[in-house]
Amino acid sequence: MNHNELGVKSLLIYFFCIFSLIITLKLYHILLYHFIKEITLQNTFIILFICLFICFYTLPSIILAILQTRHIKAELRKPAVLLESEDYILAGKYALASLHLDIFSKIVEALVFIGWVSFGLYMLNSQIETFLTHINPLWQGVILVLRFMLIEGAINLPFSIYKTFGLDKKFHFSNQTPSIFIADLCKTLLLSLILGGIVATLLIFIIENVSLWWIVGFIVLLAVVILANFIYPTLIAPLFNTFTPLDDDNLKSRIESLLNSIGFKSNGIFVINASKHDGRLNAYFGGLGKNKRVVLFDTLLDKISADGLIAILGHELGHFKHNDIFKNIIIMACVLFMLFFVVGHLPLQLFDALGLTYNGASILIMMILISPIISFWFMPIIGYFSRKAEYAADEFGADISSKHCLANALVRLVNENKSFPSSHPAYIFFYYTHPPLLQRLKALDYEI
Ligand SMILES: [Zn+2]
Repeated sequence: MNHNELGVKSLLIYFFCIFSLIITLKLYHILLYHFIKEITLQNTFIILFICLFICFYTLPSIILAILQTRHIKAELRKPAVLLESEDYILAGKYALASLHLDIFSKIVEALVFIGWVSFGLYMLNSQIETFLTHINPLWQGVILVLRFMLIEGAINLPFSIYKTFGLDKKFHFSNQTPSIFIADLCKTLLLSLILGGIVATLLIFIIENVSLWWIVGFIVLLAVVILANFIYPTLIAPLFNTFTPLDDDNLKSRIESLLNSIGFKSNGIFVINASKHDGRLNAYFGGLGKNKRVVLFDTLLDKISADGLIAILGHELGHFKHNDIFKNIIIMACVLFMLFFVVGHLPLQLFDALGLTYNGASILIMMILISPIISFWFMPIIGYFSRKAEYAADEFGADISSKHCLANALVRLVNENKSFPSSHPAYIFFYYTHPPLLQRLKALDYEI
């Protein structure tokens, strides 16, 4: 089965699922309003909300992880492809361990969700309303949202500690030391409080003062996201890594002439000290407009030939030439619009049932709570277009260097990063923004 056939078939099944989801919700709606109006409506709302989260997010994520686990176990019994047999087994073991962690974290996430909607939000809200009565309601709202975000962050912290110091260390990916981890954590915390605080203030103000707040709020948040993309390479990324201009003159002039031939205007070619965090290789073009930067990981320079690097950059330039960054922003806008639309049309009784006052802060918290469900069901659409864009960028990269050169560079990347080369079709359909390597290589006529 070729990748297009697989994509279209899966897309049809996916739309069928979405259609059933809408019908189920409508039936629930009818049931709620016409048959069981008189029995504890509050509890019904909470149970319905929990069922929605589990049936349309937790369960499908766990089922996908189980399918992927079984697929990898089956593939591990076959002879190794692309990687040396020892690395193949190691890559498989790493993938399996990550999947187990993912399943566990999805279960914890569901329990935390149940905790929030059954008593957590009520407690958080009543604390603010009891102790902060003397503060302006706008600031009360901002504090409520930030406290909610901090608690969520604290719950996720053990997972990221285990992933960095347990899992990634065990498989020799992570070069993190506790001091780098704590420094990064403090910077992230400070940034989230400042940026989160500004965005929360803006949105709460809009929600409470504009009648069609969900449309205006969506436009403002989209503008913030675009601005964040714009400032990320020059203002935010340097907080976490050191950017040094590339000093290999030979390579630099090759990259510059490549950029000029495409008409790509950047404000420099930089090397970042990614190896301080992680041993895996990568390169990207960051930023928008004149703020674009070519960023090479130091790990990539050490491990890949100049020809391979040019081929990889050729692929990245394909994204630029095909306006993929602009297309990504449009898709992201659709996800955000859907999120605002859904939250803008939630029944008031739901807020009541959760012990929340219907105001800007509660609406923002609700948005954060349901965003995993919305983004989960949007991922296949994002992935479908993204995988198409990757094939096109590969073709572009192959034209600039050669099919052989790009394919070799990709094989080198998968070997260094120890990524398991094969995945379950459903897992690919839901999560993969890049086609599986074997299919990319096939499209490049590479003999496996
Ligand atoms: Zn790409």
